[in-house]
Amino acid sequence: MSRRALIQYLELLKQSGVRQLFQAPVNIEAVPDKRQMLDSLKAAYADCNKCPLAAGRINLVYGEGNPAARAMLIGEGPGEQENLSGRPFVGAAGQLLEKMLAAINIKREDIYIANIVKCRPEGNRNPSQEERLACLPYLVEQIQIIQPRLLLVMGLVAAQTLFGDTNTLTWHRENHGDFMGIPAWVTYHPAALLRNSNWKRPAWEDLQAFQKEYENL
Ligand code: SF4
Repeated sequence: MSRRALIQYLELLKQSGVRQLFQAPVNIEAVPDKRQMLDSLKAAYADCNKCPLAAGRINLVYGEGNPAARAMLIGEGPGEQENLSGRPFVGAAGQLLEKMLAAINIKREDIYIANIVKCRPEGNRNPSQEERLACLPYLVEQIQIIQPRLLLVMGLVAAQTLFGDTNTLTWHRENHGDFMGIPAWVTYHPAALLRNSNWKRPAWEDLQAFQKEYENL
């Protein structure tokens, strides 16, 4: 991990106010089975009350996919169908996502899919900064365990949260960065594409660029 990436990571953890990660970091070397580790953490957080989103939770939507994935997809947060099922990207946006991935020869089960927040914001509103930072350590843990080599960040909320800025989605799409030292590509959230089909072409261009990186891993 580069110095810049390490500073970015530590700053996000500090902002989250969760100190135990500094006192007892996840010891990846001691946990040979990534799936078992992820399952344990998912169970441990099922009753999390760290932020107001807990009030609307039916199911924690921790994330799912290949624990040894080369790429991780990071969205914003669960919607109604995800809250009901406990699985990420299963509603209309999820169906579009699967088509988008199929178009670049990636199966859903090849990658790992997670969100910035694990509980549904009421009415699908954007999660607040407080909520995002409260939940971010869980995503950081997932990335530590899975150790993907590429991130696909979907939507403005996810991009601004990971990069800690207020830049536009267009800016993020055109200026690739990294998170925790992992190259990150930003594109539209599938839900946004369902609202505005004019964004499908630029999203397709983003995905094609991402595919080139993915195939070169
Ligand atoms: S969104 Fe995250 S931090 Fe907030 S209650 Fe749910 S699991 Fe906990």
